[in-house]
Amino acid sequence: MEPLDLVFPGLVYTPPDQRLRKIIDPLKQTVRSQGLWATHLGPELGGQGYGQLKLCLLNEILGRSSWAPVIFGCQAPDTGNAEIIAHYGTPEQQSRYLRPLLDGEVFSCYSMSEPEGGSDPTQFKTRAVRDGDSWVLNGWKFFSSNARTASFFIVMAVTNPDVSPYQGMSMFLVPADTPGVEIVRNVGLGYEPFGEGDHALIHYSDVRLPADAVLGAENQAFVIAQTRLGGGRIHHAMRTIGQSKKALDMMCERALSRHTQGSKLSDKQFVQGYIADSYAQLTQFRLFVLYTAWEIDKYNDYRRVRKDIAAIKVLMPGVLHDIASRALQVHGALGASNEMPFTRMLSGASVLGLADGPTEVHKMTVARQVLRDYQPSDDLWPTEHLPKKLALARAKFAAYLEHEVGNL
Ligand SMILES: Cc1cc2nc3c(=O)[nH]c(=O)nc-3n(C[C@H](O)[C@H](O)[C@H](O)COP(=O)(O)OP(=O)(O)OC[C@H]3O[C@@H](n4cnc5c(N)ncnc54)[C@H](O)[C@@H]3O)c2cc1C
Repeated sequence: MEPLDLVFPGLVYTPPDQRLRKIIDPLKQTVRSQGLWATHLGPELGGQGYGQLKLCLLNEILGRSSWAPVIFGCQAPDTGNAEIIAHYGTPEQQSRYLRPLLDGEVFSCYSMSEPEGGSDPTQFKTRAVRDGDSWVLNGWKFFSSNARTASFFIVMAVTNPDVSPYQGMSMFLVPADTPGVEIVRNVGLGYEPFGEGDHALIHYSDVRLPADAVLGAENQAFVIAQTRLGGGRIHHAMRTIGQSKKALDMMCERALSRHTQGSKLSDKQFVQGYIADSYAQLTQFRLFVLYTAWEIDKYNDYRRVRKDIAAIKVLMPGVLHDIASRALQVHGALGASNEMPFTRMLSGASVLGLADGPTEVHKMTVARQVLRDYQPSDDLWPTEHLPKKLALARAKFAAYLEHEVGNL
């Protein structure tokens, strides 16, 4: 897949024309014939039902290339979108939106964050109002990835402003060509040329939708969002293993190849430290991701695995950042150049600390979940306070201490 990244870098999420189909259709066919297409999904949806653990083993390889997830039918944000339509969609919604998505014929967009705030959904203002048999959608969304090439959007909107936002928002399936859907501009990431990018600022202006455009039950958006984002976050973590391993591979090759100041870089202790730290950091992270994937398969309940998904989300940017910056350093000026991928990886690491929610918010989730397993001390002193423990231990063995020890 990596040759595709080099020859067609900007076309990953563009529905392919006939020219591109000649290249990618046979590749997709090979993937299907080897039973590796959309492996996160069950057989009833065209996948293999291998589950998250096996998906992780695959994704950590695919993460090395931008094109690979599309060729294997497991790219973000479509995997998460497909999962929630499979889970909550009606049969009609599934045949209209899910089937073409799973066949790899179209792309989708998840339109949730707003210009006023992304990390706090209680601030969302986009509103959907019932009007007879229709819903009318109004509002702004920001950083809706792949909107420009998606054939439909999943939009989160307030449907009942009189209750808590957790109970008053709904998800809508919105075809991209619905009148009133306006992509105001496409925003790029830092390294992309100004004015170009995949993340849209969208104005929804009197967008009229049929009553059956609601995905799942009305006012159920938060539950659906948690299902979707849980899956999406761990898929990013799986691919991050691949990116980080790629950086480590490059670091090691360079360390063995470059000779300076009397020895190879690989003989210098500082560089050995970079390699050892990177290997240990990556292996810890990888095992944590594999363990979390195993938990998802075992419990089939993202809420139950929330703590660990949030924890790997917290670790993810740091792992890629640390390994990519060490690899850049070992390559010297070449590493900082646009002939190597390190600065892009570093920018990607920063993005991983924002997309699907900022690190700070996920740390709060981890801490809250961890604290659920604890109780406050029942008095002024901590449970492990030695005088208190000693008093308790003495009380427990009082009879023995009085009788036996007293007679010694
Ligand atoms: C590459 C990329 C792709 C994205 N794709 C999509 C998409 O497809 N669909 C979509 O809907 N959104 C998407 N997003 C948006 C993303 O979900 C938001 O950027 C994210 O939720 C943060 O929201 P915000 O940018 O408005 O930052 P804000 O909410 O303004 O937060 C800014 C900063 O404030 C700090 N902060 C926030 N809350 C707390 C807290 N409780 N405690 C301490 N500090 C805090 C953090 O440092 C945070 O980074 C994408 C973002 C990126 C970068």
